[in-house]
Amino acid sequence: MEKYTWNSHSPEETFEFGERLAKHLTPGDVLTLEGDLGAGKTSFTKGIGKGLGVQRVINSPTFTIIKEYKGHIPLYHMDVYRLEHSEEDLGFDEYFEGEGVTVIEWASMIEEMLPEERLDIYIYHTGNDERTFELRPKGERFISLCKELL
Ligand code: ADP
Ligand code: MG
Repeated sequence: MEKYTWNSHSPEETFEFGERLAKHLTPGDVLTLEGDLGAGKTSFTKGIGKGLGVQRVINSPTFTIIKEYKGHIPLYHMDVYRLEHSEEDLGFDEYFEGEGVTVIEWASMIEEMLPEERLDIYIYHTGNDERTFELRPKGERFISLCKELL
């Protein structure tokens, strides 16, 4: 398994990393985010939104599961925590194969429904303001994306 790590030292750095990553993304890309509460999943997603040209403020979608944002490329922001390993399918494929980039927080809850080609990102809380990002690309395209990015 390919694995790439990157360290963040502040919320701003995390935001900028998301913004930089977003510049490499294209419609139909799927990213998953794993990490404890407060790891920085939403902060990172806000940066991705900026990079995709989203104007609206991105908030945690915890109570809505899926939020759609317009941008140069639309952003589909999901937080599937509440699904808790259920088989409930909210039409995920329509998003994964849609015009936008999908970012899924707590994606392990819907493991079986995820596309094979995707970028899995694990965020570890390694200190006060320190976070370690572990990128695990699935498929050639995301492997070369990681090589370019890091
Ligand atoms: P999650 O969505 O994973 O629960 P959030 O992005 O909502 O996490 O919250 C992350 C919290 O951690 C914010 O309060 C942020 O200011 C703080 N933080 C401190 N250092 C960092 C860092 N390096 N990267 C991201 N967030 C950080
Ligand atoms: Mg969050």
